[in-house]
Parts: sequence; C-alpha cells; structure tokens
Amino acid sequence: MRCPYCFAEDTRVIDSRLADEGDAVRRRRECLACRERFTTFEHAELRLPQIVKSDGRREPFHEAKLRAGLQRALEKRPIDATQVDAIVAYVRRSLLGSGEREVTSRQIGEWIMEQLRALDKVAYVRFASVYRSFQDLNAFREEMERLEDQAQASDISPKL
Ligand SMILES: [Zn+2]
Repeated sequence: MRCPYCFAEDTRVIDSRLADEGDAVRRRRECLACRERFTTFEHAELRLPQIVKSDGRREPFHEAKLRAGLQRALEKRPIDATQVDAIVAYVRRSLLGSGEREVTSRQIGEWIMEQLRALDKVAYVRFASVYRSFQDLNAFREEMERLEDQAQASDISPKL
C-alpha cells in the first residue's frame, strides 16, 4: 500500500500481529522510499449499519443498550439469560443480514417484538409500551386490546 508520507508505492510489512482480540490484524509498515513507518489495521467487512433514531439522529448499534432495555422488559419474567442472548444475537444477525448502511430504531424494535411475542406475551407488551409510547400510541393500544381479547378467549389475563 501507498506510503502516507511520500506516496511512494513500495512499502513493506515489518511486523504483523493480531489486534482487537483477534478481530483485526495490525501491521507495521515501512516505506522503502522515505523510510517512514506507519501502522495499518485490517478488519473483516462486517460493519453494522448505523441506527437512525426516531428524531433522525444516527448512532452506532449499542448491544449493551439493547440488552439493558430487554432486561427491563423481562424483569421477573420466566426468561433466562440465554434467551436474552438469543434475542440480541437475532438482532445482530438481522442487522448484518440487512446489507443496509442504515437501519431505523423502529425496525430494530419490530425485530425484538417479533421475538418477544413468541416468547412471552407480558414481556412483549411491556417492551412494546416503552418502545412505542413515543411514536405510536394508537398501535400500542390496538395491540393491547388484541392481546386482551386473546387472553379472554383463552381465559388467562396478562398481569402487568
Ligand atoms: Zn514514503
């Protein structure tokens, strides 16, 4: 690769080692023309898309944030850490698989709700209430009514 100092094309690798716990390769290079040294990092192209929030701001995907939100929704529910991990992994896979540069936080919410709906209705409603309260109160109300109808039909009322 080209020398960033003199732009000569002949540089050589003088040292190469793993970085970022093995997720990257760090190389020390030396320019054969000017003898300056510089460092390059090689990463696999697995960049997650940027998250577009409802107010239009962009931010990187924060797995810890997602996990914290899920744990709040799942408090005292019969869902163990493995299942939380599975939901987080599902969101991450979906993000990578989307092939998009940007994904809306709304889309992430939908992915999570898809998973929670199948797993635990109460956790699902809790998550939906937090997640949707700002942007879609009507949709949330409809969902609640739908769940209540279902619960009455099966004679189990969700305890919120
Ligand atoms: Zn150079």
